[in-house]
Amino acid sequence: MRYNKIRKMDISNGPGIRISIFVQGCTFNCKNCFNPETHDFNSGEKFTKDTINSILELCSKEYISGLSILGGEPLHPKNIQEVTLLAKEFKQKYPNKTLWVWSGFEFEMLKNKEILNYIDVLVDGQYVDDLHNPKLKWCGSSNQRVIDVIKSLKNDKIILLEE
Ligand code: SF4
Repeated sequence: MRYNKIRKMDISNGPGIRISIFVQGCTFNCKNCFNPETHDFNSGEKFTKDTINSILELCSKEYISGLSILGGEPLHPKNIQEVTLLAKEFKQKYPNKTLWVWSGFEFEMLKNKEILNYIDVLVDGQYVDDLHNPKLKWCGSSNQRVIDVIKSLKNDKIILLEE
């Protein structure tokens, strides 16, 4: 896997001050995508064990609320294995910090994926330009859902995050 950038202090993608990583590679090609530079799977930097270690180290700061994983498409078959490893190691090390993931794949399509066990909040669905709404806090278009994954798995139905 490759990644586009890591932000060491992100206040726009999830609550509090967060570490965020934008992975490289997406095939959805949503109209007016806000991150076209992340579409190419071959661009950006190589994601290695050292990358995981440095992200985990950045997350150790007390003022960091959690980790956000965006793209690109973190859950594309070419990326999901390494993103799952990152998610697992993050949650093992910081069970009280939150993991937020943005994906064009819908929750229903991800049901049997291991990564769901580590995610607190999944913002799902592709960006639909005709449904763009600038008032939405964590997503770009009204078809996208901000899902409380822990509650959804427990209740076997989609439960949106209460804020
Ligand atoms: S899923 Fe996200 S990164 Fe991929 S094209 Fe759509 S908006 Fe862009």
